[in-house]
Amino acid sequence: MNAALTPFTTEDYRARMELAVHSAVAEGLDGLLITPGPDMLWLTGYTPTAITERLTLLVLSAEEEPRMLVPTLERPDLESAEGSDALAISDWRDGQDPYDVASALLRPDGTYAVSDSAWAMHLLGLQSRLADARYFSITERLPMLRAVKDANELARLEAAGAAADATFGEIVTVRFAGRKETEVAADLARLLREFGHEQVDFTIVGSGPNGANPHHEAGDRTIAEGDVVVLDFGGLMHGYGSDTTRTVCVGEPTAEMREVHDIVRSAQQAAFEAVRPGIACQEVDRVARRVITDAGYGDAFIHRTGHGIGVTTHEPPYMVEGEERPTVPGMCFSIEPGIYLAGRFGVRIEDIVTVTKDGGRRLNNTDRGLAIVE
Ligand code: ZN
Ligand code: ZN
Ligand code: ZN
Repeated sequence: MNAALTPFTTEDYRARMELAVHSAVAEGLDGLLITPGPDMLWLTGYTPTAITERLTLLVLSAEEEPRMLVPTLERPDLESAEGSDALAISDWRDGQDPYDVASALLRPDGTYAVSDSAWAMHLLGLQSRLADARYFSITERLPMLRAVKDANELARLEAAGAAADATFGEIVTVRFAGRKETEVAADLARLLREFGHEQVDFTIVGSGPNGANPHHEAGDRTIAEGDVVVLDFGGLMHGYGSDTTRTVCVGEPTAEMREVHDIVRSAQQAAFEAVRPGIACQEVDRVARRVITDAGYGDAFIHRTGHGIGVTTHEPPYMVEGEERPTVPGMCFSIEPGIYLAGRFGVRIEDIVTVTKDGGRRLNNTDRGLAIVE
């Protein structure tokens, strides 16, 4: 880790939990109910070694100190976690009803934001015990809770972006023609790990017609001379995500391939240049879409322009029509327009961008030209 990449402290977790409570109260809620997943990890630094049917629940409210309810057998794990000094701890034993124990910690008429990753059985259990309490999706009520990154988080995202760039720098030197997509995908995974990722989440290698399917992972298709290949890869480094896409051509591209690639590149550049504090998220999408639509390919851009990134690789804010919330310095998200020509090929270019007071700053900086590979 470099100098800025110090471990998160008890104070960091305390501040995040205070922010969460403050945001919830400002939304007219009494508090938050958080089960294992990215929200819990971000708020407390804790994640159970295995997420199971046993209830683990973080209760945040304005009146009480932050409290984690854990199965008794997992209490030692929690006590050794980074952020546990900021928490009061309660436990429940096998044989007890965890929802009875949990409901005693809650207001019978409370209104709570619940983490998206809460298992239905847990939420249904709480609902059956506290029928007058009201429960809301955290993403519906507090979508931007984790969206603004502090300096330490930014340093991690930057390191992850640099590792993804280094991976791309190497992948263009490997052989594509005559190898299967899965083999190139394995190269991407190996390189991400070599450059410091502890987790690889996706290694998309979409060659030829497979590139026209944005979430095609990698398959048995053998890559051939003349193929356009979409490479979209990322994972976690120091707990924070990378996600970048470049499109390459095996040998000489046709004039049409060059033209489509140029349009996507212009759209990506225009959207990047539009980023500044206060711009609505949907406006970033509109700027990219306008370039592609004006070039006659509007129907071939079949997804939103981007998504936030942090302790997960897909999270709010979303750069999508209808998202009117403004961008704020410290937000980090992808800008990834694409054109998908069914049955033929696809092109996508993606960088992670952070909002600064002066505009956007890219966390991916490899060349955006159409690279020629062998
Ligand atoms: Zn995606
Ligand atoms: Zn991606
Ligand atoms: Zn992405």
